[in-house]
Amino acid sequence: MPSNVLELTQTLVAMPSPSSVSNAEISDYLAAHLQQHGFDVERLAYDDNGVEKVSIVARIGPNGDGERGGLGLFSHSDTVPGNPGEWAPYTPTVADGRLIGRGSCDMKGPLAATVVAAAAVDARRLRRPLFVVITADEEVGYGGAYQVARESTLLQGQWPAYGVVAEPTSLVPVYAHKGGARIYVTARGRAAHTSTDQGVSANFLIAPFLAEMAEMATLFRRDPRFQNAEFDPPTNGFNMVIDDGGCKANVTAAKTVATVGFRTMPNDHRDEAMRLILGAAHKYGLETQEHTFGPFYTAPDSTLVKLALQVTGIAKAETVPFGTEALVYQEYIPEQVILGPGSIAQAHTIGEWIDLAQLESAVGVYTRLIERLCGG
Ligand SMILES: [Zn+2]
Repeated sequence: MPSNVLELTQTLVAMPSPSSVSNAEISDYLAAHLQQHGFDVERLAYDDNGVEKVSIVARIGPNGDGERGGLGLFSHSDTVPGNPGEWAPYTPTVADGRLIGRGSCDMKGPLAATVVAAAAVDARRLRRPLFVVITADEEVGYGGAYQVARESTLLQGQWPAYGVVAEPTSLVPVYAHKGGARIYVTARGRAAHTSTDQGVSANFLIAPFLAEMAEMATLFRRDPRFQNAEFDPPTNGFNMVIDDGGCKANVTAAKTVATVGFRTMPNDHRDEAMRLILGAAHKYGLETQEHTFGPFYTAPDSTLVKLALQVTGIAKAETVPFGTEALVYQEYIPEQVILGPGSIAQAHTIGEWIDLAQLESAVGVYTRLIERLCGG
């Protein structure tokens, strides 16, 4: 099996794993690879409507009772769809210092860099454990990461103290990203043909709430209390979509659902924002259901962020607007950083590519982090 990062990335790109199909092949390949290099490997799978989704947890190093500390390198093996009609997504091609192919950047290249760095480790020299975690379904709701967090016996009781989520950040350490909040607001009317005038339109029932949301959009955009200047943009991206089931113009809508959402940040007064939205809905007798997940945040002056800056030679850690599985792991891992080769601008594009020089330097970056956090 390839021990060089370019070859390994090429091999992985050539194994199609869009989230709609099983990622068993690529997961089993990586599991075997890590096993050959002395890792204990755990295979976690679930059935996704008849499609097997597989995540891998691999561990090497001292195995003392309740052994704490060490480092986890986290990635995912699924990709967005390949769109084979428009290019050759699964035929990795090297040109002009780039590797082109679906997943080269998000995130089979970064994944390969973590595996190459981890596989080169001399287990006898490790003072603290090293974990490699490769999940399914990151692109469609973090199903694999949630399963790993709930069920991995290798991780339970001895999560690493430090985590690196290897999403593409152009090798700039990232210490925070936004989370999210969703509120589903439902109005129930009665369907009838408008000629009878017997109906009750759910659209008219929900209309005054919608008008208040339009005012709230202005409030969130204007009031710095609901913003955080550490992020670009600092605003919470407040949005609303409406679904009345495609009701015809001569029928009253039986049910209308407005989905209201915003992105959460530290110190963004999101509880107050949530109260304002729910309060408006309840005032008009509407049903509500909400779901919130906080932002990912590790203090920029934490041990891990400082070390990440040192090993990358970057002056200042940043925040990003996109989400990652760090959200799932932060409950268990005290300090995490998002750090990987390649630009997020390439992710999910037709003609996706990763810079070969970045890919190579990522192996060095992960190697130095392993040495500092797990080594002697
Ligand atoms: Zn990704």
